[in-house]
Amino acid sequence: MALESEPHPEGAPHVHPAAETGGPVLAVFAHPDDMEICAGGTVARWCSEGRDVHLLVLTNGDRGAAKPVDRTELAATRLAETHAAGRYLGLTSVAVLDTHDGELENVPSVRIEIARAIRRLRPAMVLSCDPTVVFFGNEYFNHSDHRNAGWCTMDAIFPGAGNPLFFEELLAEGLEPWSVTEVWLGWTMEPNHHQDVTGFMDRKVEALRLHESQVADGQIGFFEEWLPKEAVEAGKRVGVQHAESFRVLQLG
Ligand SMILES: [Zn+2]
Repeated sequence: MALESEPHPEGAPHVHPAAETGGPVLAVFAHPDDMEICAGGTVARWCSEGRDVHLLVLTNGDRGAAKPVDRTELAATRLAETHAAGRYLGLTSVAVLDTHDGELENVPSVRIEIARAIRRLRPAMVLSCDPTVVFFGNEYFNHSDHRNAGWCTMDAIFPGAGNPLFFEELLAEGLEPWSVTEVWLGWTMEPNHHQDVTGFMDRKVEALRLHESQVADGQIGFFEEWLPKEAVEAGKRVGVQHAESFRVLQLG
């Protein structure tokens, strides 16, 4: 996930997102720890500023282990970890769907859950990951659940949550259409905004540490080293110590 190959020259103009003025955020990611890895510093900062941040996780993470385990137990463990990390960061709400890890697809049954959350929470912005990224250099390629989470989220936003003829059953629940006007996509190769998260990297790593099942066997050491390094590289682009990079869309 090296940043060196980003087509983003030093000194290029950066987007100044309207959402910096506040308003609730809905974060939608594939796996229980994705939000922390992708945007944990940004979310920690927003929560510290008193902003409402809601998290919707689209799978239960029941294949997040490198050895055979009871997947039902793993899902229960990861649900508890997600709530613990959410409490630590100060999230306003946390919800986890029971889709199996590795089986996330861009289908109406998933999109309606995102649309339901959008119409209920009326977020000023939605935070997710860039679905167009397949290859991160030649060292890593993107998990299908991550790509599908990005597509599901975008397709739930438009055309969907803002149109009364999509997800009509939500109207019967009293959920009126809601148009999202700003979308932030992390894990992108085409960032147009580098969010200053200086002072919040410790909280990002600590939140990840609370996903205990995922950081056993020394994995937290990898995160402690790799995440700040990535954040330093992003920070250089805007002259701050640490940053997280996003592709920000401002919809009409
Ligand atoms: Zn993931």
